[in-house]
Amino acid sequence: MSFDPLTIWSVVLLIGLMLSAVMVLAWTVTPDEPALLYWAAFCAILVTGIAGIMARGVIPDFVSISLANALVLLGYGLIWVGLRVFDRRRPRLGYTLIAPALWIVLCELPLFRDHIASRIVLGSSFMVVLVLLAFVQLWRGWVAPSKVRPVAAALLGISITMSLLRIPFAGSFVEGDSLRLMSDPRYLWMGLLAISLLILVGFTLVMLVRERTEQTYRTAAQRDPLTGLLNRRGFHAEAVPLCRRGGALALMLLDLDRFKQVNDRFGHAAGDRVLMAFGEALMLDMPGTGILARIGGEEFAVLLPGLRMPAARLAAERIQRNFAEGLERLPTPGLPIHCTVSIGLASGELTPCHTDTHAEAALHQMLKRADAALYRAKSAGRDRIEIVVLRAEDFRA
Ligand code: GH3
Ligand code: MG
Ligand code: MG
Repeated sequence: MSFDPLTIWSVVLLIGLMLSAVMVLAWTVTPDEPALLYWAAFCAILVTGIAGIMARGVIPDFVSISLANALVLLGYGLIWVGLRVFDRRRPRLGYTLIAPALWIVLCELPLFRDHIASRIVLGSSFMVVLVLLAFVQLWRGWVAPSKVRPVAAALLGISITMSLLRIPFAGSFVEGDSLRLMSDPRYLWMGLLAISLLILVGFTLVMLVRERTEQTYRTAAQRDPLTGLLNRRGFHAEAVPLCRRGGALALMLLDLDRFKQVNDRFGHAAGDRVLMAFGEALMLDMPGTGILARIGGEEFAVLLPGLRMPAARLAAERIQRNFAEGLERLPTPGLPIHCTVSIGLASGELTPCHTDTHAEAALHQMLKRADAALYRAKSAGRDRIEIVVLRAEDFRA
């Protein structure tokens, strides 16, 4: 089975147009990602420009040489603009007009317009600069973990290399009807590879949006909206890998004392403010490696790696102090709100675990011991810290 080059080109350009439509559709589902619209424009404009270049000999030269190439350059610029928008930066749309405008002006000079080697060198150089801008933006915006960004960056890197490689061969291109030239196997495969690569870039850009949307939902599912701390699910998700690594660990379970009375006396809204104040007290002076969570209504958990007993107790006392000071600053219309916290503190040395199941079992043991300590703190009158130090065999119990 064989296809004529026109069919192949038409199919590839059609795929580009369909991708553009898919991007617009994706934007209607996630309207807070306007980058998709810039990338949809990139696909549509690029495809239109290439179709214009292909029609050389059929349409006026001004359209196929000047305008069509300017469109291709505009399309390249829009990848960069879309990436800026995706990374929540200003679009700087005006900058993308520089290369196309320069191109159109230069095409008014016969010396440039009628000299294919000059056009190839300048066009390819513009493409290198524009794709390089996109590449740098991809790299700069790589602040959250991403599997898609390096793939997109690699594709852009190949695209830059291909544009660069065209420059030394500029002299070997011959002037003529584009379609006839692009039917020549030497140009056909080079051209198809270049545009397929850009369409592939388009697909990875859609994946980039999808990846971030999923991350946002996952994070939201693991956070408590009132305090901004992790919730029980988030605590578990982060604590298990920490336990797997092993080493010294301190775990606190913290429960606000007689919190129901706070609600009854001051109202539910004031209770919420107390919970927020407690969240802030937890975050104060906490090492970045600590895992802080609200695991129930007025119950919290703190897991601190690398902390052993006298230091862990000091950290617990600091939380109590910070909370008391935070409550003093809390604006209340009437009497100041008084509330204390009881803490069950367990610490121990974990051996590194090979599987999540082992780590989960070790964490479960620590939670059980810390909970028993918290129960003792409540029974002994509240506003206290009770401690338990786990030995190696306790983790296997
Ligand atoms: P104890 O000292 O034994 O822990 O007594 P307590 O009153 O703190 O414990 P109890 O379990 O009896 O009551 C917990 C209260 O926490 C009951 C519930 O109304 C309140 N609570 C749970 N979640 C929230 C919340 O999101 N906001 C507010 N304002 N109150 C909450
Ligand atoms: Mg409770
Ligand atoms: Mg309580």
